[in-house]
Amino acid sequence: MSLIVQKYGGTSVGSTERIHNVAKRILETQRAGSQVVAVVSAMAGVTNKLIEMANEVSADNEPTEREMDVLLSTGEQTTIALTSMAINAIGGKAISLTGAQAGIFTDGEHTRARISNISPDEVHRLLDEDHIVILAGFQGSSPDGRITTLGRGGSDLTAIAMAAAIDADLCQILTDVDGVYTCDPRVVKNAKKINEISYDEMLEMASSGSKVMQSRSVEFAKKFCVKFEVKSSLNNNPGTIVTEEHPNMESVVVRGISIEKEQAKVTIENVSDEPGVAAKIFQAISESGVIIDMIVQNVSKTNHTDISFTLHRSDLKKAKQTIEAILNEISDTASMETTDGIGKLSVVGIGMRSHSGVAAQMFEALANGSINIQMISTSEIKTAVIIQEEDLEKAANIVHEAFNL
Ligand code: ADP
Ligand code: ASP
Ligand code: MG
Repeated sequence: MSLIVQKYGGTSVGSTERIHNVAKRILETQRAGSQVVAVVSAMAGVTNKLIEMANEVSADNEPTEREMDVLLSTGEQTTIALTSMAINAIGGKAISLTGAQAGIFTDGEHTRARISNISPDEVHRLLDEDHIVILAGFQGSSPDGRITTLGRGGSDLTAIAMAAAIDADLCQILTDVDGVYTCDPRVVKNAKKINEISYDEMLEMASSGSKVMQSRSVEFAKKFCVKFEVKSSLNNNPGTIVTEEHPNMESVVVRGISIEKEQAKVTIENVSDEPGVAAKIFQAISESGVIIDMIVQNVSKTNHTDISFTLHRSDLKKAKQTIEAILNEISDTASMETTDGIGKLSVVGIGMRSHSGVAAQMFEALANGSINIQMISTSEIKTAVIIQEEDLEKAANIVHEAFNL
């Protein structure tokens, strides 16, 4: 008998009617001869609504992260109960488990906890009793028993980590699109479904804005070699297989395009060009908890230079305050400038390792579309540019076309 982990995202369980359909699908999977663990997310919009309410009751104070996790975990807890009830109502035998009940242990970092280990004995015991296990995504327990959550989109991670822990034969991420596309199909209408993608490409796409998979879940899958499939919860079309790289994959130079909105840029001008300056800036930023993305430092011809970095717009205020506080220490000539209203466009593909000219082709396409590039960054398998946010969707379409995706 095979062992399958399925994960149903927020839209797929977004109404009681949809939960009913998901229940049927899960039961069919079991009846076709498998043991099934189904991980479910909160119903679409619920997590955001809970965050909104937390902010409302907290007024100017920030709610404590401990209470945030107690609150946010209720979204998934609602769905596991409803999904189990729906399966039981059509003659199945389902049981719901919270993250803690399923033996998912994390560190104590509320709202972004990392899974430290999974003790799947209870899951195995219930499966052996012919239960379908309905598992709450996105949550676990700290070593001292506090409820933790795994970061936005964290139900993907629950599914992949549980699949690794119970050595599942198959892990399916069931969502509202047919798989991973060459670009978000909501942005590029003629984006195409990718049949197979490597962990590294999926990871680069996920971490540069393709929210179809949570990036940490892909990192985990790569580390523990969990091959998984992203497919639709609404039909039976074949999805996208995410797996280890093999030589055939290199023949495709650009696998996909991602865009990331709501970015911001901080530039510190006229900083002394001497050892320790960058360390001081980024030490302070790191201590403030702000996560930064690109960093660019100009070549200096004088004794001074400019350093720019990008970050999510929601962190701009904190970053500004942090830099302001240390500006005098950096040098007496230093000044700071900030910009928001920018976004990032990335092209990703492992074939870039062995093909040149991708960046040139991308820049040419953008130039033909009169789109100005503000910053550039590259890695072995990615070229990314910062442009005006309002140009992002147009740019994604132009570049998609230029690479014939
Ligand atoms: P779920 O609720 O199932 O976790 P998400 O909303 O997190 O679903 O992810 C699915 C969405 O991701 C799609 O509706 C799509 O708009 C978006 N998306 C972004 N980039 C891509 C991509 N490259 N391929 C497919 N979907 C993408
Ligand atoms: N409900 C959580 C979120 O909206 C986790 C998830 O859906 O994966 O981020
Ligand atoms: Mg998701």
